[in-house]
Amino acid sequence: MMDYEVIGKPSAQYEGLTPNLSDYESAREGFDWYRDAFPELDWLPGGGLNNAYEAIDRHVHHGYGDKSAMIWAGKNGEEETYTYAEMKELSDRFGSVMNGLGIQRGDRVFIFMDRLPELYVAALGVLKAGGVIGPLFSAFGPDPVLDRMQDAGARFLITTPELRNKIESILSKVETLEKVIVVNKGGRYREPLAKGDLDYYELMSVASSEGFQIAGTGQYDYSIMHYTSGSTGKPKGVLHRHQAVVQQYMTGKWCLDLNFDDVYFCTADPGWVTGTSYGMMAPWTNGVTNVIYEGGFGANAYYDVIDRYKVTVWYTAPTAIRLLMRAGAGPVASHDLSSLRFIASVGEPLNPEAVVWGNEHYKMPIHDNWWQTETGAIMCSNYASMEVRAGSMGRPIPGVEMAVLDEDYNPKPAGEAGILALRPGWPSMMHAYWGQDEMYSSRFRKGWYITGDQASLDEDGYFWFQGRADDVINTAGHLVGPFEVESALIEHPAVAEAGVIGKPDPIAMEVVKAFVTLNPDYEWSTALRRELMQFSRQKLAAGVAPREIDVVDVMPKTRSGKIMRRLLKARELGLPEGDTSTLEDD
Ligand code: ATP
Ligand code: MG
Repeated sequence: MMDYEVIGKPSAQYEGLTPNLSDYESAREGFDWYRDAFPELDWLPGGGLNNAYEAIDRHVHHGYGDKSAMIWAGKNGEEETYTYAEMKELSDRFGSVMNGLGIQRGDRVFIFMDRLPELYVAALGVLKAGGVIGPLFSAFGPDPVLDRMQDAGARFLITTPELRNKIESILSKVETLEKVIVVNKGGRYREPLAKGDLDYYELMSVASSEGFQIAGTGQYDYSIMHYTSGSTGKPKGVLHRHQAVVQQYMTGKWCLDLNFDDVYFCTADPGWVTGTSYGMMAPWTNGVTNVIYEGGFGANAYYDVIDRYKVTVWYTAPTAIRLLMRAGAGPVASHDLSSLRFIASVGEPLNPEAVVWGNEHYKMPIHDNWWQTETGAIMCSNYASMEVRAGSMGRPIPGVEMAVLDEDYNPKPAGEAGILALRPGWPSMMHAYWGQDEMYSSRFRKGWYITGDQASLDEDGYFWFQGRADDVINTAGHLVGPFEVESALIEHPAVAEAGVIGKPDPIAMEVVKAFVTLNPDYEWSTALRRELMQFSRQKLAAGVAPREIDVVDVMPKTRSGKIMRRLLKARELGLPEGDTSTLEDD
């Protein structure tokens, strides 16, 4: 029997500081053990906590105001650099704009914007003024924006003129919405602003940072609301509190190895949790220079950013890495990537093939880590100091207890797959699913937070992702994780991506069915299908290899790049597709 204590046990340094909370209600209550553990953070006079203060102002306060905080690379080749002092001044100013508009503690302020510097300034300003930011990915159409703003009761919206036009039809339907603030960056938009809208630059030019005071937020005050990716169903509004910053800070240091001198590039958009927890809070609390690239994915574009700004730490996602693999060695060779010293990945399982490829082409392993919108920060990670096992998501961070449970929610021995669960009580844990208390409660069982994923644990404490609970396939009495099958398939040179589902079967209950997209230069044929079947039978145990393989032109994915297996399944079975608000355009 595996001793689970060993796994989640804090290192000696944090011994005794971990709360042992046994049920979710107490998980919502006070625990400020981490206050003593991280004396680097300032806190506010009187014991409050504000994440924007810790990210930006603290460095100015300690004499590092001249350090560069953000380099913005615009999509038209623009470039802007902001020091910590400038970020402080601008966000103070925007905080004062929000105060002038009458913002109240806890008001939801939605930000629907491309990755412009103003997005970050506005987000920090709202947080300083005590508001809750609700960032939305700019590729959303009107309906998903309406859904989320209505659900959250948004009072303010910050957007650009183009995006405002795109969602014009829904604005009047959000009854709680009072003001729309519009950022016309660099005069990119030539028409006059819509009547009633407020011009960001005008507001900023009359506002003053002088005399601005950070709202007296405390650690339990709400700060950020993120809708989940919608991989398994309708996205949930996950509410976080200012205390999450503690964990974002420490995991930035521990899992991404962020140091004061680093130049950091996170490819996630702030519309998803990685883009705020690790696109804003972790890098800035660690005092690094954060490169914000406005453009979208492109192998050359990403490598250009790394080459031009001498990026040292790069945090990206498996979907991007698979595309980079597809682009091949050419673009790697035509760039100088020698500044890189650490690469990490999150969002989906990172196929072992990708780790091997990264090691060969970037000359360093890609460090996978696991977490969710609900956890607010990294929970399990391949550290710089640790041997990376390709295909494993690493080991839990100190202070976090993670386990694999059976159906009765009791820990299982090493080697067996089961329910991936966490002991509640870490600082960045969600406080609520907005307006869905029952769903929130349903995620807690016998003192564990149930993640919704399946995994196994090896003898050395490494966790291995198996699949989302909904995606795990039950075939002839075996449980098969789609990840294992997908990873085997993409090792074949013809296969770019693979998505695997369980197809109902009268005898076996389910059979394994795979969908693949092909690499350039390959064409689908019965011969290739047969070859892939054979290939997977060599790689996988009998019964695990797919019984059927089909090709698709486009792998259905969320806008954050995750394969939507539920859609592959619905399409295969001719069932309704459910919520597709986060589905990427073809
Ligand atoms: P929804 O909850 O709306 O269905 P989602 O779960 O994809 O969408 P996120 O919170 O963005 O929304 O993603 C968290 C999930 O992503 C995890 O529960 C897990 O399934 C997957 N994931 C994230 N990182 C990893 C990783 N390193 N390895 C395997 N899976 C990962
Ligand atoms: Mg989820």
